[in-house]
Amino acid sequence: MIYLDNAASTQLHDEVLTSMMPYLKEQYGNPSSIHRYGRLARKAIDKARKQIAELINAEPSEIFFTSGGTESNNTALRGIVLQKPGSSIVTSSIEHDAILEPCKKLEEIGFSVEYLPVDKYGLIDILELKNKISENTSLVSVMFGNNEVGTIQPIQEIASVCHEKNIFFHTDAVQAVGKIPLDVKKLGIDLLSISSHKINGPKGIGALFVKKGIEIDPVILGGGQEHGMRSGTENVANIVGFGKACEIAKSNLEENFSVITKLREHLVSKVLNDIPHSRLNGHPGHRLPGNAHFTFFGVNGEDLIIKLDENGIAASTGSACSVHTQKASHVLQAMGFSHEEITGSLRLTIGVYNTQHEIEQTVDVLKNVVKELRSVSPFKEKYSFN
Ligand SMILES: *Cc1c(COP(=O)(O)O)cnc(C)c1O
Repeated sequence: MIYLDNAASTQLHDEVLTSMMPYLKEQYGNPSSIHRYGRLARKAIDKARKQIAELINAEPSEIFFTSGGTESNNTALRGIVLQKPGSSIVTSSIEHDAILEPCKKLEEIGFSVEYLPVDKYGLIDILELKNKISENTSLVSVMFGNNEVGTIQPIQEIASVCHEKNIFFHTDAVQAVGKIPLDVKKLGIDLLSISSHKINGPKGIGALFVKKGIEIDPVILGGGQEHGMRSGTENVANIVGFGKACEIAKSNLEENFSVITKLREHLVSKVLNDIPHSRLNGHPGHRLPGNAHFTFFGVNGEDLIIKLDENGIAASTGSACSVHTQKASHVLQAMGFSHEEITGSLRLTIGVYNTQHEIEQTVDVLKNVVKELRSVSPFKEKYSFN
């Protein structure tokens, strides 16, 4: 199998698994306990917090563990806006559902939400952001890199607009952390969501960065762990693995960035060159290194994924959510895509374990399956496929 769905989840790094094993076996103490078992678990958590902080240039005290990107996003939104009943949130129309769904819920309970439109590349407009911010805005939340089309937003500019107006800025950086250089201090980020399983760590663990001095209301109450920010006995093994994944990502960042970028550029140019009526979606330059999102005209993306799977290639149409909700991608709709452009979309996301050989094989298979599907396509005449 060739796995090209690294935006959905990634393979656990061997060293990550090794680092976790002691905490799944003999080191089972509760980190809140005073005895040796407890102290060892606490020490392991402290180390992981430091590893995560270092990846984004934060202080360890600014890192709070959560169950993943989804919980981090929910906590950031609720944690800030619930302090100001009736206030308004500014977000983008291409956020992950882990932002859009909590926003919808907040609208139902009396908050207002402004959705920033995007251009055909998936970029927001800074002027629109300035227009949409009002006296009543309590939080701006704009994702760092889009999980479907890979477009990277002008984060530093967004942060500076927010700061001029004294508004907190949160970013869902799940797809960007560990993939591109990211410095929360330099960029001026107030809150940031991370997920472990998108960077070769275990699932079910993530973190929320909250800049020192910002108070947020906890969403989960109980024993007061994580300085009261997120109660519940810590998932020690997952935290340790997450920390290790961050350490590895940091030490390999430049190398991975350049290798993965080259693989993607090769994939994109081969596909566009070898497959007629194909197009790259998302921003050509401002994009995540591993993301290649295409439209193949006259083809149904879901049929394409099934054919690719039969040929040993794991791909995606772009959003895992479409599987549950059976609706067209809100991201592509916001980018102004026609029904046909959305239907023919395919996302291939490259990770640290992919090779040049796999990319070559993928292009060969893709050429054949696109041709095969087009030969039975109702658009057969339109694109004269033969
Ligand atoms: C995967 C993803 C999430 C959700 O993270 P989980 O850890 O799976 O809850 C949120 N935002 C983006 C952009 C993602 O890609």
